Amino acid sequence: MKSDIEIARSVTPKPIVEIGAKLGIPYESLHPYGHHIAKVSNEFIAAQAERPDGKLILVTAINPTPAGEGKTTTTVGLGDGLTRIGKKAAIALREPSLGPCFGVKGGAAGGGWAQVIPMEAINLHFTGDFHAITSAHNLLAAMLDNHIYWGNTLDIDPRRVAWRRVMDMNDRALRSIVSSLGGVSNGFPREDGFDITVASEVMAVFCLATDLADLEARLARMVVAETRGKGSVTAGDLKASPSMTVLLKDAFQPNLVQTLEGTPAFVHGGPFANIAHGCNSVRATRTALKLADYVVTEAGFGADLGAEKFFDIKCRKAGLAPDAAVIVATVRALKMHGGVKKEDLGKENLAALEAGFANLARHVENVGKFGVPAVVGINKFVSDTDAELQLIVDLCRDKLGAKAIVCTHWGEGSKGSEELARAVVEIAEGPKAGGFKPLYPSEMPLLTKVETIAKEIYRAGSVVADSKIKKRFKDLEAAGYGDLPICVAKTQSSFSADPEIKGAPTGHAIPIREVRLSAGAGFLVVICGDIMTMPGLPKIPSAEHIRLGADGQIEGLS
Ligand code: ADP
Ligand code: MG
Repeated sequence: MKSDIEIARSVTPKPIVEIGAKLGIPYESLHPYGHHIAKVSNEFIAAQAERPDGKLILVTAINPTPAGEGKTTTTVGLGDGLTRIGKKAAIALREPSLGPCFGVKGGAAGGGWAQVIPMEAINLHFTGDFHAITSAHNLLAAMLDNHIYWGNTLDIDPRRVAWRRVMDMNDRALRSIVSSLGGVSNGFPREDGFDITVASEVMAVFCLATDLADLEARLARMVVAETRGKGSVTAGDLKASPSMTVLLKDAFQPNLVQTLEGTPAFVHGGPFANIAHGCNSVRATRTALKLADYVVTEAGFGADLGAEKFFDIKCRKAGLAPDAAVIVATVRALKMHGGVKKEDLGKENLAALEAGFANLARHVENVGKFGVPAVVGINKFVSDTDAELQLIVDLCRDKLGAKAIVCTHWGEGSKGSEELARAVVEIAEGPKAGGFKPLYPSEMPLLTKVETIAKEIYRAGSVVADSKIKKRFKDLEAAGYGDLPICVAKTQSSFSADPEIKGAPTGHAIPIREVRLSAGAGFLVVICGDIMTMPGLPKIPSAEHIRLGADGQIEGLS
């Protein structure tokens, strides 16, 4: 069987002008990066403002397991399937982070015959957006320490600096450091640390901003430290936001690439799905909606985190109204939710599959709470048996009244997603579309918002918040942040806060450990469990196998 990178290379990409032309983007409005990648100019995007929007389709999934689900693969496959049935379609995806490609994750450009290309470029430096975000973030960090060095007129408390530094690499050695060592001329030593670039608030701001003016205003609002009197210090106070915007100006233009079958794909922005909202830029989604009749996009993790944040944060804030959702499930992952171990996944097991189906059922119900009609996309693996595939279809029909479609885009491209595409069109143009509503209103008290998500989506019995957390919510409300949506950071592996609890648990407790304000991005991060903002590399990182072959081609990038 061919690897993803071998398949990607076996297809000759079309010149990017041809892909732009499919969406009506003239050559002058494309800024090409080589022959197969281009940015779409800010001016062209501004000129499309009055055009009507196409339909927006969200691809989400059951709770992830080590068996793999295939959201990106299905997003790409569905885009190609829609093109195949004659729709003018586009895809909107996140840009992969470079660091994890050298760890365990491998690429994030889809798989098999449902990929975006050129996958090596997309997975590595691409158009340099993440480098620009890294630079803008670290410019602010440098300006902050410089402000303290030159007299600290804002009275920043060096013990209460929240703004860390970032780089796009998995490097656990930099998680906690002491900066400014080495004497008087190097500033005031303080505890500091690095996060990975995708965890930067600049990334979240970049992905939620609607235009350059909004980008700059959001950057200015980011809180970076406290004063000795416990007042907030922002990037605006440090006069950093205008120059940060200069560094981000070109990166802010969405990147256009193509699928293996030539469907236009916007790949732009890539915030973490835990301490941020986990979807591509509003800029790219909105641009795609102006230019295509159908736009397929992905949200990170399972639907409890990814879809909830997509709906309650991104769609609410950007005024987007999704028309339909596809919930991706696999036989293998559902068997794991039903208690099967990874090494036993190859064997047919209908009883475990039926038990694990509870996880899928819960997500289908939950998506319905947002008023978005959904179909289930079963991403077929070669080890799945016909009886297993049929069981999911039957259970969806009988227990949920939902359509489930077996998809083979990974192995066959758009031929294998044609039926899914038809089902999506049917619901997106059907009577149930057009009813999107967020789960909770913006004016609801902050703690009640968390309780609403916990009870309605996670089906928890309670939210555990000690007096410190409750006071923090009250203080934030008093400071004018009460209308912000909530961004929950918890394990993606379970509806509960415990990654080991599979299936569809009820009545569990969701403990809030910490609340962080992302004032620029415009949400409150509610941390329920351990979160990692600087990953490490595994014992044998994929970096050990990535190399240039004799023909100059990259090898080993999954
Ligand atoms: P997600 O977006 O949910 O994280 P991806 O679409 O990136 O998942 O897929 C993860 C990995 O699984 C990719 O390497 C992809 O090639 C592989 N994969 C996806 N679907 C299939 C399938 N049907 N059969 C085999 N491998 C698959
Ligand atoms: Mg993905």
